[in-house]
Amino acid sequence: MSIYWSKKTKDLLPYVPGEQPKDRKFIKLNTNENPYPPSPFVIEAIKKAALENLRLYPDPDSLKLCQAIAERYGLNENQVFTGNGSDEVLAFSFPAFFEAKDKPLLFPDITYSFYPVYCNLFDISCNLIPLDKDYKIDRGAYVKEILNDNSTGVIFPNPNAPTGILLPLSEIITIAEAVKKKNQVLVIDEAYIAFAEGDTNNAFSAVSLIKDFPNILVVRTMSKEFSLAGLRVGYALGNEELIQALKRVKDSFNSYPMDFLAQTAAVEAIKDRDYYNGNNKKIIATRKKVNDELSLMGFSVLPSDANFIFASPSKSGKSLHWIIFLN
Ligand code: PMP
Repeated sequence: MSIYWSKKTKDLLPYVPGEQPKDRKFIKLNTNENPYPPSPFVIEAIKKAALENLRLYPDPDSLKLCQAIAERYGLNENQVFTGNGSDEVLAFSFPAFFEAKDKPLLFPDITYSFYPVYCNLFDISCNLIPLDKDYKIDRGAYVKEILNDNSTGVIFPNPNAPTGILLPLSEIITIAEAVKKKNQVLVIDEAYIAFAEGDTNNAFSAVSLIKDFPNILVVRTMSKEFSLAGLRVGYALGNEELIQALKRVKDSFNSYPMDFLAQTAAVEAIKDRDYYNGNNKKIIATRKKVNDELSLMGFSVLPSDANFIFASPSKSGKSLHWIIFLN
């Protein structure tokens, strides 16, 4: 605390990012990064772009990237917004769609721990809805709160983090319909959806709902699926009205959140589908193997559709040590 801090700064509850250790003598599993390198086309694009016009400001609207993303998802470029990592896109969506000091924003207890931080920053109250007995998002509980006029909107990751559990589109539709009735927005944070088995053609993504639900905003990141956590590229997909709202917030904060290198490289990443689909398959196979091995060791493991798993030991640390040692 300092006498120079505003009251707002004193009241903040900042997010604590996962540690990036300086020594790499162990396998790093925190922060859910991708173990494979980015596409070789991405690296080429960065090298080339570095020799171009870094003296100039980048395109404030990342038009080429929006076009490439739109093409990938069968949308038009006006339905795409890009930002400096999906954390920034999520942050912009709070003041864009949720009312401060009004009814609460609904999200799961437990979920991505940045959501309460943004609520605090933007003075939005929140209501944490417990997961059901299987650690799944409990759609009935959301619908009840929404229809009882107890919400300003809804946000959750799908798959949820840190459980890794995927909510099927049929259940998302039930929540989306209730939210739509109240003219509110449902933000679906799909940071990990590419790792859902069989999602190569976005079979589990809520992108397919955008045409029927003008109130759904899908937020995605290039940090996990595209192995580009260090580049900071996130994007949102949704109806043009929602995208316009994000642009209004962005241009009230920082007109150039995405640098030229990031914009150029991200275009190459989004185009190289074969490379990334191959990596995703390897990650899914590794997840299954780790899941099976942990289960054999007596861990209870939740069914994950993400690039991480949520497991808890049923044995003491001491006996686990011996099981690992003897294997
Ligand atoms: N959503 C979820 C659920 C996450 O786990 C993360 C990564 N910590 C993000 C969004 C943000 O990812 P990024 O800012 O790297 O795009």
